[in-house]
Amino acid sequence: MDLKNRLKMSFLIIIILPICLAVMTGKLIIEYQLNSIQKTYDVEFNTVQVITNPIQILNRVTRDAFNRIKTQAMKSPWELEDLEYIKSLNAELKGKYSFLVVRKDQEIIFVGNTAKFTTVKNNLPSYNNHSTEVDGGIYVGGKNPILVKQQDFLYQDGSEGTIFVLTEVDNIVPQLKVSAIQAVISFVLIIIITAVILIIWLYRGIIKPLDVLKRATKEMKEGNLNYSITVRSNDEIGQLCEDFEEMRIHLKELIEVKMQYDENSRELLSNISHDLKTPLTAIKGYSEGIIDGVADTPEKLDRYVKTIYTKANDMSSLVDELSLYARIDNNTVPYNFNIIGIDDYFSDCVDELSFELEIKNIKLEYENMVSPECKVIIDTEQLKRVIHNIVGNAIKYMGKAEGTIRVRLSDAGDMVQVSIEDDGCGIAAKDLPNIFERFYRADASRNSKQGGSGLGLAIAKKVIEEHGGNIWAKSEVGVGTSIIFTIMKWTDKEHMEKKLSKIKKGLELKVKD
Ligand code: ADP
Repeated sequence: MDLKNRLKMSFLIIIILPICLAVMTGKLIIEYQLNSIQKTYDVEFNTVQVITNPIQILNRVTRDAFNRIKTQAMKSPWELEDLEYIKSLNAELKGKYSFLVVRKDQEIIFVGNTAKFTTVKNNLPSYNNHSTEVDGGIYVGGKNPILVKQQDFLYQDGSEGTIFVLTEVDNIVPQLKVSAIQAVISFVLIIIITAVILIIWLYRGIIKPLDVLKRATKEMKEGNLNYSITVRSNDEIGQLCEDFEEMRIHLKELIEVKMQYDENSRELLSNISHDLKTPLTAIKGYSEGIIDGVADTPEKLDRYVKTIYTKANDMSSLVDELSLYARIDNNTVPYNFNIIGIDDYFSDCVDELSFELEIKNIKLEYENMVSPECKVIIDTEQLKRVIHNIVGNAIKYMGKAEGTIRVRLSDAGDMVQVSIEDDGCGIAAKDLPNIFERFYRADASRNSKQGGSGLGLAIAKKVIEEHGGNIWAKSEVGVGTSIIFTIMKWTDKEHMEKKLSKIKKGLELKVKD
């Protein structure tokens, strides 16, 4: 539940729940008390009556008996002169907390309950007092009230007689008082219980997740990005925690990338200085040889100068490759994608290479198993650089006077697979997984006179991946090496642009038809 609804609900709960519970418990308490009153007085009444007019209940307690007296007083008053009859009537009323008093002129001739009578003795209404005619009688007795019903009649001797039916009120009042106290206590308890329930509910929904968030923020502030939080709720705080968690993961990734980047930069710097130092040392040594007159014969001088030239060339190509790699790494190399027939493109490449290879006694074979109409989308210059690098490596690491290089094209669904195989010295299994890493050079080639920066295949990998393809190698020492890569077949402009822009984010691609 979201926070807004949670607060609305809390508001409703704090109003509705106590009211409902109070009504329910109040009803139960009153019913219980009324039951006991009903049992005590043996009368029927409902809750409304007891609350609105309790006198009516007391009235009903003695209503039957009083009506009988009334009728007798009118029809057969002589019966009321019989004290035995009065006694039996009084006994009947006793169980209903009532009693009779009979007055003849000013003399009290019968008292059903002497103890209770003393309190009202002097307050009894006089003969023919009309105030008692109200339904239910009147209260007399001050602090300890008694409900009085009065019935006047005339004795046979002409004396004025009155029968009073008196009902004790103080029994019913404590019961109602207890009910009221119980109701107040229940109401207070209900308010407390509701408040506790609400506090727990709000605590679990708001305070607890906020605490978790606070702790996570503190951990993050102290640099701990591994402290993850899980808050399962659909409200705004749950959403906030989820966003916070996403932010933590993102931040962690960024920091890891940054650390990796820093590490790579350090490694790059040390590799560059190492690879530049080697030819520089040679140049310095040979130059010193010339200056010191060690190259004292024209042949020696010629050899020294040629070595200096070769080393300077090595340095120059290393610097070139480095700057290219840096540009590729920074995504600052512009790509000009062209749609070109795969067969035309590779036939040209092979023609270009064959002259150089012929001189080096290396046979170049070209086999195209893809339809001659098949078109690919490539940056022709960048891909040429890749092919030249792979073929260049094949030449460099041939390790024998004669050899063969095979360029083979095959169909791989919506890609064309290009495989450049040589039968050179091969790559040891331990080196094979690393040859596409920058500056990685297998021990054998490091020690050879071939030179090389260890950047060629790293550049090739970047270029191929930015063409939407993959590159990998297979090799066996003493048998040869195959470098295999894939490039995308051309389908339609929209589709291609979509695919390529996904690969090289943020780079505007110009696809020329
Ligand atoms: P390098 O400038 O050293 O040639 P590359 O990145 O082009 O750098 O190649 C990385 C390493 O892979 C080379 O140093 C070499 O050990 C190995 N390698 C690449 N191609 C071949 C191949 N055709 N035959 C044998 N080893 C190869």
